[in-house]
Amino acid sequence: ASRGGSAPMPRVLVVANQKGGVGKTTTAINLGTALAAIGESVLIVDLDPQGNASTGLGVERKDRRVSTYDVLVGEAPLGDAIIETAIPRLHLAASTLDLLGLELEIANERDRTFRLRNAIAAHAAQATGKFAYSYVLVDCPPSLNLLTINAMSAAHGVLVPLQCEFFALEGLSQLLQTVDQVKQALNAELAIHGIVLTMYDARNNLANQVVADVRETMGDTVYETVIPRNVRLSEAPSYGKPALLYDIRCSGSQAYLRLASEIIQREKRFRAVAA
Ligand code: ADP
Ligand code: MG
Repeated sequence: ASRGGSAPMPRVLVVANQKGGVGKTTTAINLGTALAAIGESVLIVDLDPQGNASTGLGVERKDRRVSTYDVLVGEAPLGDAIIETAIPRLHLAASTLDLLGLELEIANERDRTFRLRNAIAAHAAQATGKFAYSYVLVDCPPSLNLLTINAMSAAHGVLVPLQCEFFALEGLSQLLQTVDQVKQALNAELAIHGIVLTMYDARNNLANQVVADVRETMGDTVYETVIPRNVRLSEAPSYGKPALLYDIRCSGSQAYLRLASEIIQREKRFRAVAA
């Protein structure tokens, strides 16, 4: 709830799947941009040591003076890691390869699974103006490690990108089980926000079959919006730009704009249930 004058706590959504290459980072960047484009104020938190979300948003390694590593290890408040991007209302907390060592460094700390949650809460409690966010989107590494657990412990909802390929559902039960364990032990608020099908190619019969199978198995959890395979989405990061800035008319940008409005609709339902 909001306190006199200060902004309400942001909704924290985590983009997770322990498989690599399924579209997590592409989704974090472009969904974040789309939400910002329709008026939300968004912070993307890069928790992948590879830092693809940071690079894709045009933030070079030399400019990541304070990173999510410094925040999670307890050496800097989240606010110190925040960088403004070329997109109005879209900010980034960048990652560095230092994150690879974090798990061992904090393995014996009692609050090790709550580092991100505490950092977001501390930031939100005093944030004003453009640094008060309505959404925090967390981009996870391709693993169910302590970084992903930190993200889930901090989150309201998990967004799961699934690539439209033969083994799309493989590994999903393990992911859902992890979400359940985090919900039981660390974060009772956690829910699956939705599954987003990515890299869909309408000319491929197999892809159509995969979409049908996933919808049948997972029902309403699957967003209506399907992200097409679109070369603009894969080109944009090499220019350090979200696809929405690189080419707003391409099918990929348009799909992420639809996903953003679908997510806002779903959020309204979540809040109505919580109230
Ligand atoms: P993850 O973060 O899950 O590892 P990425 O978002 O980095 O996955 O995507 C993996 C690769 O596929 C990247 O090269 C990315 O540019 C590309 N890619 C992702 N989504 C699409 C898409 N819808 N169409 C075309 N290429 C895509
Ligand atoms: Mg990634």
